[in-house]
Amino acid sequence: MEKRTKILATLGPASHSIEMIEGLIKAGANMFRLNFSHGSHEYHLETLNNIRTAMKNTGRTVGILQDISGPKVRIGDLKEPFELYRDDVITFLKDEIVGYKKGDKDYIVSINYPDILDKVKVDEYIYLYDGTIRAKVIETGKEVKAKIENHGTLSSRKGVNFPNTVIDIDVITKKDEKDIAWGVENEVDYFAISFVQNAKDMRKARNLLNGYKGKLIAKIEKFDAVENIDEIIEASDGLMVARGDLGIEVPYYDVPTIQKMLIKKANLKGIPVITATQMLLSMTQNERATRAEISDVANAVLDGTDVVMLSEESAVGEDPINVVDTMHNIIAKTEGIYNYDKQYKFPYLDEFDVIQATVTKLADDLKADGILALTSSGKSATKMSRYRPKTPIFTFTHKKKVLNSLTAIWGVEPVGTIKEAQASKMFQKMLKALDEKGLLNKKGLYVATVGYPVGMPGSTNTIKILTPSEMEYYLNFKETKEKDKKSK
Ligand code: PGA
Ligand code: MN
Repeated sequence: MEKRTKILATLGPASHSIEMIEGLIKAGANMFRLNFSHGSHEYHLETLNNIRTAMKNTGRTVGILQDISGPKVRIGDLKEPFELYRDDVITFLKDEIVGYKKGDKDYIVSINYPDILDKVKVDEYIYLYDGTIRAKVIETGKEVKAKIENHGTLSSRKGVNFPNTVIDIDVITKKDEKDIAWGVENEVDYFAISFVQNAKDMRKARNLLNGYKGKLIAKIEKFDAVENIDEIIEASDGLMVARGDLGIEVPYYDVPTIQKMLIKKANLKGIPVITATQMLLSMTQNERATRAEISDVANAVLDGTDVVMLSEESAVGEDPINVVDTMHNIIAKTEGIYNYDKQYKFPYLDEFDVIQATVTKLADDLKADGILALTSSGKSATKMSRYRPKTPIFTFTHKKKVLNSLTAIWGVEPVGTIKEAQASKMFQKMLKALDEKGLLNKKGLYVATVGYPVGMPGSTNTIKILTPSEMEYYLNFKETKEKDKKSK
């Protein structure tokens, strides 16, 4: 089944072998996530090499996203798990200690970012264990005391959230700096930055790339990120609706509206957006997804997301290939009722955007089999995707790196690289590459768009409608071969 919305699968113990990765690609995965909250550099390097081998073996282009863990706040170790009940009091100390039960209804813990305790105010909430236990602050000072409001079991090093507190800690930790350097060295395509608060955080991350052209995704999972979304978008190459932490940081009922708001803004700006976390969570153990999960994936597609993400489902789940397969089926079916029409209502992004708008409209009106796009920076393919054409955008670039960076873009099918100065040869090479992959319908119709003459500003400026007889002409085009060589 064909699909336009992309699948990003997190790799982990259940899925990092070459055979599994190949299986996931064949099932419809377009990108893979290396989760740097877990695992050593050696572990991730092996996975990355396996992805690259799988790419060669399958002949498909997939993207590699390095998810940088960021300042995940956690409690310290505990002597033993705490069985917490309503009205118990938990005390957060600034010193590093092993947490313990001090007395009846009285517990002591430390946290890995003790400075946060200076910022907390009475009546604010602290969430423990990724949101499952809620506590209300009753006393601040040298230590912070909070009263537990619901029953739950707390064990060592569980996540802590301070949804009401402006924390202002460095979003990029020392560990993150080393991890980003690893990503630059190993040329990952995307970096996802966790717990971003504002544009400054994204600029800091950009500086750490040292000029490397990887794409930066801002994970929106804090309430101040939602508030500062416009400046964050200006400083980012993409967004992630990181619903896991977001759902703790903001009231749970705000998550769907924030998801829709983020997708709309990303679509408008023409940057990719990833919808993440708990999409098919029950499939970590079960063969079938719940009805609610199936609807969630479908609704994210209809909202206009570029990418849907799998976390535990594909990293540690029972059957990662079945999960990707399920996601693929939901997407393909749902795209049958996709709102492609919204495409022409966007204002132009820049003075050349009229070309992308025209190409996509032309392709749709002609019911073309595909758009053939040769793009040097990837920008024109991304801008075409923004108009959500019904037809796939078969994309070619000069550099492999740019091709990989288009894996997150809705509807863009990264096919191959072409270095060619002559327009006729460009058309020929695109058609041949599609033909070799079994994607060309020689009786069909294509709209091709290239930048010619090469290197002129204004990027893509030549539009060609390829009918069956023209396709035949270009596929057999030979005569200027010698001349072409000389002019190079
Ligand atoms: P995480 O990010 O899985 O790294 O926490 C995604 C989320 O919070 O939803
Ligand atoms: Mn998160």
